[in-house]
Amino acid sequence: MISFSDSVTSKLPNTATSIFAVMSQLANEHGAVNLSQGFPDFDVSPVLIELVAKYMREGYNQYAPMPGLLPLREAIAEKTSELYGAEYDPDTEITVTAGATQAIYAAISAFIRDEDEVIIFEPAYDSYMPAVKLNGGVPITSRLKGPEFKIDWDEVRRLMCNRTKMIIINSPHNPTGSVLSSEDLLQLEKLVKNTNIIILSDEVYEHIVFDGKRHESVCRYPGLAERSLICCSFGKTFHATGWKTGYIVAPSALMKEVRKTHQFMVFCTNTPVQYAIAEFLKNGNGHGGLGLFFQAKRDFFLKEIEGSRFTFTPTAGTYFQLLNYEAISDETEMDFAGYLVKEHKIAGVPVSSFYNKGHNGNYIRFCFAKSEETLKTAAEILCKI
Ligand code: PMP
Ligand code: GLN
Repeated sequence: MISFSDSVTSKLPNTATSIFAVMSQLANEHGAVNLSQGFPDFDVSPVLIELVAKYMREGYNQYAPMPGLLPLREAIAEKTSELYGAEYDPDTEITVTAGATQAIYAAISAFIRDEDEVIIFEPAYDSYMPAVKLNGGVPITSRLKGPEFKIDWDEVRRLMCNRTKMIIINSPHNPTGSVLSSEDLLQLEKLVKNTNIIILSDEVYEHIVFDGKRHESVCRYPGLAERSLICCSFGKTFHATGWKTGYIVAPSALMKEVRKTHQFMVFCTNTPVQYAIAEFLKNGNGHGGLGLFFQAKRDFFLKEIEGSRFTFTPTAGTYFQLLNYEAISDETEMDFAGYLVKEHKIAGVPVSSFYNKGHNGNYIRFCFAKSEETLKTAAEILCKI
């Protein structure tokens, strides 16, 4: 007899469990230093924790409004205006989401129909491609080329056609740490002029940019802002990735559609955290110093691995550093990452897992959002390999 499970067909036949979950589990199994999955190992501000507890104790435990608490949306509008000089209406142009992951999915599912083409730059954060495919879209990839991992705008021009519905950009970029410049955004602005192309701009690492550079949000560029959905995450800003609280900002015509998908994905997100973040932001606790904080982490880590056989270009943003192992091994990235965990007790992420059809550039991604002690231990291991 054929069992029911034999009749189950996958909508994502080639998608396996996320590499972040796989590597973190492997790290735990082997007692390895875990620099794979991107999450900080420092504490959330005790003031913010206390605010969440306060709102829970005071009974703010029922559903929040569907687009998010108004005071939080107001605080986001203020922040976006102060930082980027862009004005968004909290009523109609800002929605609080369950992390940036849900913001991205809500945005893609609101606009992508069967056969719509979406340009994605590889290596790409893992959630973009499945979200496009689940909505019937067709991912069209353009590769960033190491060691700088810049966008080839001429190639983008060649890939664009009347089926192109969306272009997804991500700066600062996970996994490579590259940062888009003003010239990049001007190029994009020029390319999409007089088209109906929507830009999805993943800016979750907006506050983690190094060496005096500034974050180029798409909302600084009017020709982009009018067609852009910007996805952000408080997880990165407040060392609270487990709270899964993020948001999306976009002009009202776009946001109207995003809210239609958002309301049937989660309806709203967790209430006491929204109250707490709103108050925390109102009291002047923002992202202050986050870039310098992570720059010091990057510099510490790179100094500690100076004598190793790994080579690198210092990362320009995010809390990830790519290390190249060409001088050590000719194994694939997946095999080499497995070897590092099992034989050397250190976990990183093979960059090949950020490519749809595989790739080998001899890069492993390491997360340096860790205590100096952890980074020192990691560097000692890396120096011996
Ligand atoms: N985009 C990128 C580039 C990320 O690195 C992450 C998380 N690491 C996300 C989106 C998802 O953010 P969140 O955890 O808020 O869902
Ligand atoms: N974004 C984090 C990373 O790149 C992990 C997110 C996740 O585990 N899904 O490592």
